[in-house]
Amino acid sequence: MRTKIVAGNWKMNKSLAEAQALIAELTNVIGGIKSSAKIVVCVPFPYLAAIQNQLGSGRIEVGAQNCSEHESGAYTGEVSAAMIKSCGVPYVIVGHSERRQYFGEDGALLAKKVDKALAHQLTPIFCCGEPLEIREKGTHETLVRKQTEDSLFHLGAEAIQKVVIAYEPVWAIGTGKTASAQQAQDMHAVIRQHIAGKYGQAVAEAISILYGGSVKPDNAKELFSCPDVDGGLVGGASLKAADFTGIINGIG
Ligand code: PEP
Repeated sequence: MRTKIVAGNWKMNKSLAEAQALIAELTNVIGGIKSSAKIVVCVPFPYLAAIQNQLGSGRIEVGAQNCSEHESGAYTGEVSAAMIKSCGVPYVIVGHSERRQYFGEDGALLAKKVDKALAHQLTPIFCCGEPLEIREKGTHETLVRKQTEDSLFHLGAEAIQKVVIAYEPVWAIGTGKTASAQQAQDMHAVIRQHIAGKYGQAVAEAISILYGGSVKPDNAKELFSCPDVDGGLVGGASLKAADFTGIINGIG
């Protein structure tokens, strides 16, 4: 059985007080949640230590939204995987489409970030996904295979099983347009088969692949019921406790 995960990506939202209030709300309701899925909140860098302390070793885990490809040193404004780890935080998002689009992060750079995360025992949540024009051209599967190859296929069989993959079609992020359950399932199966082709079926079967892109309480259940969808990476809807818990409930 693969690990089911619902991860929230708060992006660049909320003051510290608002972030702590949302965590307090989530911890209040989390006891009532039946799902055994892992629950993660990926919060802005300045809040990592405070939120990690607030949550302790409870049901909700913490992630960062990015890390540097460098180990340490004169990289003003950057945050290293070691720093994230030193806050007690176990997850980091790598290669979100907004990082690719606005900060020019490419596959080779993301491979280095994945390496840094793993070297510091962080679980990378590695994002891939196609923009609208690629979907319309029909080359989305080729692109997503290449994204996974470029940033993950240098890893050994043991290391790649420590990575969580998030398939996030760019046209579905923050747009309210969700991929259909069939579109999500098809791409998740493509990713898993591609991994199986290089590493074998057992390795591919062990890797959690999350869907991201306008997941909401009313579509979560259908998406999460697909055999190759192991949970979700949730942006906008993770900013409200009721919506996020509604989504977690959708995973069963
Ligand atoms: C995301 O940014 O990872 C995301 C999936 O956003 P949203 O849920 O708002 O589409």
